[in-house]
Amino acid sequence: MNILVINAGSSSLKYQLLNPETQEVLAKGLCERIGIDGKFTYKPTGKQAVKEADVAMPTHNEAIQAVLNALVDPANGVIGSMAEIDAVGHRVVHGGEKFARSVRITDEVMAAIEECNPLAPLHNPANIIGIKACQSLMPGTPMAAVFDTAFHQTMPPVAYTYALPYEYYETDKVRRYGFHGTSHKYVTQRAAVMLGKPLEELKLISCHLGNGSSITAVDGGKSVDTSMGFTPLAGLPMGTRTGDIDAGILEYLMGKYDMDIKTMLNVMNKKSGVQGISGVSSDFRDLEQAASEGNQRAALALEVFGYSVRKLIGSYAAAMGGVDAIIFTAGVGENDGATRAAAVKGLEFMGVCIDPEKNKLRGDEIDISAENAAVRTLVIPTNEELMIAMDTAAIVNG
Ligand code: AMP
Repeated sequence: MNILVINAGSSSLKYQLLNPETQEVLAKGLCERIGIDGKFTYKPTGKQAVKEADVAMPTHNEAIQAVLNALVDPANGVIGSMAEIDAVGHRVVHGGEKFARSVRITDEVMAAIEECNPLAPLHNPANIIGIKACQSLMPGTPMAAVFDTAFHQTMPPVAYTYALPYEYYETDKVRRYGFHGTSHKYVTQRAAVMLGKPLEELKLISCHLGNGSSITAVDGGKSVDTSMGFTPLAGLPMGTRTGDIDAGILEYLMGKYDMDIKTMLNVMNKKSGVQGISGVSSDFRDLEQAASEGNQRAALALEVFGYSVRKLIGSYAAAMGGVDAIIFTAGVGENDGATRAAAVKGLEFMGVCIDPEKNKLRGDEIDISAENAAVRTLVIPTNEELMIAMDTAAIVNG
């Protein structure tokens, strides 16, 4: 079974054709600068990558047509015809309270996704454009929507309710939603396999640490709390995002520097986080290099990040009344042993202890715990495309 996974942004589109049963990736790539000057990248597994500039892509339709043409190309393609694409799985950022799981796309589902647009005005409309483009080019192919928020719909009211007047929740749906759900779901499923225990019996803390970062408490396979909130700006400090800050700071800075809310939010989304603290970079590799050369602010940014992760691990262990394993995933979580070590520093009191040698290893699923640690610490590369393909296959197969 071949599933085409599509992640459509406003001017870009990531794609991957894979078989969820064998986990084989047939091809993947990226369309960029859609509506501008069209850049196309296509990488068939085991063959030469294709990179083309100035490809005519006025809309997502031409971008997806270029993907389909490449996939069936006699010389460089990976399938004989479009009939070999059994279904399409679309990443959709926000499913609001309407979607607690992945769903087959129907007219009603499209209308419900559109109703969630105000909750993710930068992302959902682009996801919808991607779905519509695929529907027009592949009218007979079943499609599924896989939501970043859906995994977190199991959170109880005590975890998702903000202490605002309750009518803002009832009328305006202002609550914690959480994001990165597809990643948290995938790595917690893999953790259960690694630990050799049913997911239903495990208390897990999943740390997705990348350019955007979030931590989720997963009890018995269900998200019970997560650090991102109404938007992906909340929680941990990130590459360029503030994470949680005192809302009173907004009034203070906006008044002092005559900023409107758009400018303030731009600072909070694009100029803050470890980039903002360090003034060096949002990339942890650059920060570690700078810190090793004596840059105090780069060192502080790394310390703030590690401390923030550690505090959340502690609070989620408290929220669940214990923890069996901590998972690190995404760009920083998978590759950055120093940040992992900082994140669990001092947690020996709760049974968390990593083996410094194992913590140096990279690239695969690995248990980096010290032998006698009561709580396991796992590094698990995330694979959102595979999770989307698996969900899509399950929906199509009924
Ligand atoms: P992601 O958003 O999951 O793609 O993660 C991207 C981030 O991962 C980059 O901005 C880097 O900060 C971080 N990263 C990737 N590789 C490494 C590495 N070898 N060491 C430290 N950080 C890394």
